[in-house]
Amino acid sequence: MSYTIPNNCIKCGTCKPLCPTGAIEIDDGQYWIEPGLCDGCQDRYSEPQCVVHCPIDCPTPLQAKKGRYKAAERIATSPDLFSNGKNNPFASSMVIWEACKLLSGAKILPWKTDANGKLYYQRAVKHGRGAIAFRLSNDRESDLPQTLDEAAALPILDAIDIRSACLHLIYAAYATTLEKPWEQEFIISDLQIEKYLGLDKRKDLTKATKLTLIKILARQPCQLLTTIDWPQQGKVEGFSVEESRLWHLGAIHHHFQQDESGHKHLMGITFRIRAGRWAEYFLNKQSYRKRTAFYQYGTLPQFLLSTVMSIWQQHQGAVRMMLWLLFKVKMGQQQCITVPTLMRVGYGKEKILEASLKREHRKRLVRTFESDLEVLNYYGLKPIFDPATYQSEIQPLWAKLDELPEDAEEALEFWTNDGSGDRRLTDSGPRGKWDLLMKARILGFELPSEWAEQLAKLEKKKQQKTARKTRPRMNFELSAEEIQTARKHRGISQRDLAKKLGKSQSWIRDLENGRFCAKLEDQLLLRKLLGLS
Ligand code: SF4
Ligand code: SF4
Repeated sequence: MSYTIPNNCIKCGTCKPLCPTGAIEIDDGQYWIEPGLCDGCQDRYSEPQCVVHCPIDCPTPLQAKKGRYKAAERIATSPDLFSNGKNNPFASSMVIWEACKLLSGAKILPWKTDANGKLYYQRAVKHGRGAIAFRLSNDRESDLPQTLDEAAALPILDAIDIRSACLHLIYAAYATTLEKPWEQEFIISDLQIEKYLGLDKRKDLTKATKLTLIKILARQPCQLLTTIDWPQQGKVEGFSVEESRLWHLGAIHHHFQQDESGHKHLMGITFRIRAGRWAEYFLNKQSYRKRTAFYQYGTLPQFLLSTVMSIWQQHQGAVRMMLWLLFKVKMGQQQCITVPTLMRVGYGKEKILEASLKREHRKRLVRTFESDLEVLNYYGLKPIFDPATYQSEIQPLWAKLDELPEDAEEALEFWTNDGSGDRRLTDSGPRGKWDLLMKARILGFELPSEWAEQLAKLEKKKQQKTARKTRPRMNFELSAEEIQTARKHRGISQRDLAKKLGKSQSWIRDLENGRFCAKLEDQLLLRKLLGLS
């Protein structure tokens, strides 16, 4: 049962430090209890501590508010993100990526302790010519926060919720809407955050639970402090950013409604946030034009936020891989990814080391990895296995089943071949599967349409720019129908064509179904293989 503090509170302050869950807060000089954090002291004390120690027995059990929540007067917020319903630009510099990595996998990163006993995580930049380091603080509001030493930082590190990476990305998206994000604030409400994260559709959560969750997640990125030492890059001179906040949490405004008995009900929260000094160097339009700073941005698909919110509990590895891909494919270009790299992203170096030493760990890690890849595939991030190194025999079963041809005749041929071969589709992995996986590569990931469309636009823009500088190009684009007709005419199965192209069968199937257009280099290869001039 939660408690609440009515109007007759004399503001003596006795209760606040005694609350075991930190649920008692002061807003505008008034004491109030965050309902999502107050558990009535159950399992710790026989009686609620705020009631026992209050000189006037002020706190009372919180009665559920009946009826709908009325729209309370709120502070005006910054305009909504995702105005096209699909995606939004977001700051995507290395600082933002490293912070995202930290929030989504704090416990799997190699933290160290410096000479002053402070816990830090550091990433080398440009082959060690520079570095970005992060430290933690539990002081969320002051401009000169104290860095925590190891003992104090470990519980904060432990409490970092993987979902706070979503809030960090939302901030990174808001920062791109401002001319000088290191000077200007953006204002976000719980209603906007609910919508971006898909929490507005969660009927199983009460309003109080959602508000508490949003507040916890919104604060966590603001506990990171960063130090940057950046070497010269192109025309941009090297620079250093002294330890400063990644995000400044200017203020949290709570919006209450009071019922007839004088009890306050929390109706909403508004956050005022400003980007830290990193933005002056990595998200600075004006200086970018003068070649004295960077302006680095990518595309944040909204579905990624709601997906992370749905799968974070069961598939943390998949969440980390998905976030990594967000930064990796920011300019529409993907490179080959080795399986060890992807595993390191999802589970950390330690896990791979453990797996290489013990069979049990190995089996477990491969199972988790294959299941996480399946989740990515389910959400539209389809891995393209390298036919040379990630052959069918070591691919997960779900991927092999995914390759089943839709065409009845081709499916029959597929099963006949499967039955007559040395290995069956459903056979377990071969001996030495782990060693083979450690050398296997994924050529890239197909992306969901709302993500791919935007990246395609960026790539098109880039190509147009290049085309203007070079000679005019012929239109090589093959239609889905042309590809299918030519393939059938030459009696080549989707599977064989995929092998020759170094793609998956599903890539060919989707191409023929018109789900996307092949890149220029693939178009040229297709023309050659299908004998199209
Ligand atoms: S009942 Fe216990 S948990 Fe709730 S506000 Fe009072 S002291 Fe805190
Ligand atoms: S102890 Fe009682 S009177 Fe004092 S601040 Fe808390 S609720 Fe108010």
